[in-house]
Amino acid sequence: MPGRVVTVERRPRPRAMDSLGALAILRGLAVTSRHFFRNLWGFLRGRPTIFTINYPEEAQQFAPAFRGMPVLVEMPDGKERCVACGLCEWACPVDCITIYPAETHDEVERYPRVFDIDMSRCMFCGLCEESCPEEAIVMSDRVAIASTHWRGNVWHKQDLLVPVGDLEKRLGSIRRGYDTRASEPAVERESA
Ligand code: SF4
Ligand code: SF4
Repeated sequence: MPGRVVTVERRPRPRAMDSLGALAILRGLAVTSRHFFRNLWGFLRGRPTIFTINYPEEAQQFAPAFRGMPVLVEMPDGKERCVACGLCEWACPVDCITIYPAETHDEVERYPRVFDIDMSRCMFCGLCEESCPEEAIVMSDRVAIASTHWRGNVWHKQDLLVPVGDLEKRLGSIRRGYDTRASEPAVERESA
């Protein structure tokens, strides 16, 4: 049975829409031109205002709240702070953390014999950092993590360790977050 043919009438575009589109283009051009001439003027005066970084010679400075590559905190004695509890591995929504725990010689604490993160799967959500009870894994400001082979994206413990002194900015940001949350009034649960 042949299908029913329905003729749809398309209403002509109102002229006002066309003029709004043209206006938006003109506004965009005006913004682009303003920045161009402002930067040109700064360049001519020897004080460029262009926000350009000569990467990789210059590194971008990120805010403490920035979430780059997750790294492991290395204590001054050269050991990891991680106690291999596995909470970050459990919390990671994409299962990109692999931990094999082992016991320390005093058999009191554990340490990660293997601690791998597959950066090709990491989505920088920061849940590993939030779940860690030891402040042992933190989101760093590292962003240069590209690799030409998938194996190169699996970062091992020795690659992930960063001296605690280099992570103070981020650790301070995390602690400020704890303080802010602690000072917020508790939300009462609604009774069912
Ligand atoms: S940042 Fe998110 S995705 Fe990446 S390792 Fe941590 S929990 Fe997993
Ligand atoms: S990094 Fe933190 S959460 Fe993950 S295993 Fe180590 S101590 Fe536990």
